[in-house]
Amino acid sequence: MTTTGRAACVIGWPVEHSRSPLIHNYWLRTYAIDGEYRRELVPPEEFAGFVGSLAARGYVGANVTLPHKETALALSQPDERARAVGAANTLWLDDGVLRSTNTDVEGFLDNLDACAPHWDRDLREAVVLGAGGAARAVIYGLLVRGAARIVVLNRTRARAETLRQTFGPRVRVEPWDELTATLAGASLLINTTTLGMQGQPDLAIDSARLPAGAIVADLVYVPVVTPLIAAARARGLQTADGLGMLLHQAVRGFTLWFGTKPEVTAELRDLVEADLGTDKDRR
Ligand code: NAP
Repeated sequence: MTTTGRAACVIGWPVEHSRSPLIHNYWLRTYAIDGEYRRELVPPEEFAGFVGSLAARGYVGANVTLPHKETALALSQPDERARAVGAANTLWLDDGVLRSTNTDVEGFLDNLDACAPHWDRDLREAVVLGAGGAARAVIYGLLVRGAARIVVLNRTRARAETLRQTFGPRVRVEPWDELTATLAGASLLINTTTLGMQGQPDLAIDSARLPAGAIVADLVYVPVVTPLIAAARARGLQTADGLGMLLHQAVRGFTLWFGTKPEVTAELRDLVEADLGTDKDRR
């Protein structure tokens, strides 16, 4: 047993739905670390006070979930990723300084690396569906990996245009109703919308229009096998699902707080998948 006496938590409002305790407590057990990871239900008006007293509460850091991610950015010293995404989901104390990052970027990239090795070699065109917070993390990650062209389609076009202004000329915006025509050029297709999520409408896509060799990623993880992922697999395309991203994004926080870089294993995946299956309406 490694004695750290360290504790971390996930702060949200609500917070009950978060799978982070399941993931981090699995790693604490696996690596025999005597740390703790808890849920903290904190309303917006108490968030600043809470993160201002993390150390006094016995925490070395925290995950941050809805609706606190933008406030967390403003209250901390963000790294380049968190600044680019405009939201922080991971906080840690560094010699008394509260620092932050956004681990969705590496969650997305590391999951693709694991599911579709060399996906970024000769990447001609990535097509991103959606323009919310998750899309920002994905686009930033794609740019870091050298994507030559990223086509963004969003129901509300103005939000996609904002991303083009933020991330520059490698980002191109196409109208949402051009989705079918855009698929033919997609070496990599990424769904960052909520479409396909349990309780939401399906993403109406004819995956037969994707080129042979295309890779398909979906950020939705309830259900784990979305209709988009199922259709891509049926065509024999490589896929990266949202559960993989969720697990990979947790690695950095655990490393920062507990000093051990954990592995995303099949056992952990099965554990979280089983838990997601117990309440399919929760994200
Ligand atoms: P968000 O900021 O609320 O953005 C939601 C996006 O979905 C927007 O682009 C929105 O378009 C689009 N959308 C919603 N309903 C739609 C509809 N009926 N038709 C077309 N587009 C629709 O949410 P987010 O934080 O980016 O999260 C998006 C998804 O990613 C969620 O499913 C979330 O669970 C998932 N996610 C997964 C991970 C992971 O680790 N796997 C990490 C982060 C997020 P408009 O702009 O037109 O409203």
